[in-house]
Amino acid sequence: MRFLSTYDTDAIIRHIQAEYEASLGMGIHTEEFFLQHAIALAELNVRSNSGGPFGAILTSNDIQPRILGVGVNHVVPLHDPTAHAEIMALRDAARRYPDYDFTNTILYSSCECCPMCLTAIIGSGIGSIFYSCTTEDADEAGFSDARQYALCRNAPNKLPFTSLSALPSEEQTQLLAALADHGAAVIAPDGSTIATGDDSRDVLHDPTAIASVQAIRNACSQLQQFDLSNSYRLLTRDKPHPTGFMASDWAYIGYPSASSQATRDPLATIYCSNNYEEMINSDAQTIYCQPSLPNRERIISTRRYSRITHAARSNAFYLWKDAVKINKRLAY
Ligand SMILES: [Zn+2]
Repeated sequence: MRFLSTYDTDAIIRHIQAEYEASLGMGIHTEEFFLQHAIALAELNVRSNSGGPFGAILTSNDIQPRILGVGVNHVVPLHDPTAHAEIMALRDAARRYPDYDFTNTILYSSCECCPMCLTAIIGSGIGSIFYSCTTEDADEAGFSDARQYALCRNAPNKLPFTSLSALPSEEQTQLLAALADHGAAVIAPDGSTIATGDDSRDVLHDPTAIASVQAIRNACSQLQQFDLSNSYRLLTRDKPHPTGFMASDWAYIGYPSASSQATRDPLATIYCSNNYEEMINSDAQTIYCQPSLPNRERIISTRRYSRITHAARSNAFYLWKDAVKINKRLAY
């Protein structure tokens, strides 16, 4: 894999699929094989200097699986706070197989999913997830998603966003004009609309292209940065979708700066209509719906079709730690 570009997912898939087929009959455990290759992708990514040490592979759930999509973390080079490995693998697969039913697929990830990726995965119906490192390992290596998991533990009515109806009427009028007829918008510090987003899941063949995510991607693409801290705001038509809300958190919306330890400003994300009833009946909203659960393992395991295991962790874990070390060497 050393010579492959992390952007050439067709070549990566051909390479891994060929290796998998060559390994058949050699007693190699399928789950271990794909998990190790997800880690190899993480390592390739840091060696190529094209992003963080995270890789993911989405396969069919067959006796001899077919690779549907692969992804690595491309947040920095693509100026896209949502370009995490798992989301990139899902988008890659959906682009390649627009009509595929993802309910019978397996995602292999070098690291436990963050809430943004997890809600996107649950929303797309992916059946099982295998991961190597835990969020604690990632935290230790300088890639923490503890803030997002802490947000998820809020009761739904205590999440840090604000209803438009709570604002003065003059501001309501201004914000509605900024949103126009779009599903979501990112508002610049001067009050102008920097980018808008609409539900484009069908048009783009991208299960993650919900309105709020699209508005964030469009704003970051326009500004050529993945950081929308310091007074950018997200305005959504409906109460924020968990994936979109977590995407806005990865974009640092509501924080004074990317490195700030401050709590998120509820006035940085404003929604127009209260669709909570609709939201709690939707599969994609699991994390918001179970606010009192004590820990993420329980949140995940309550999904009857999500299977998380450490079975293949042993070797894969040490390989990932090596990828993190490479990343640190390159970074400093
Ligand atoms: Zn993620």
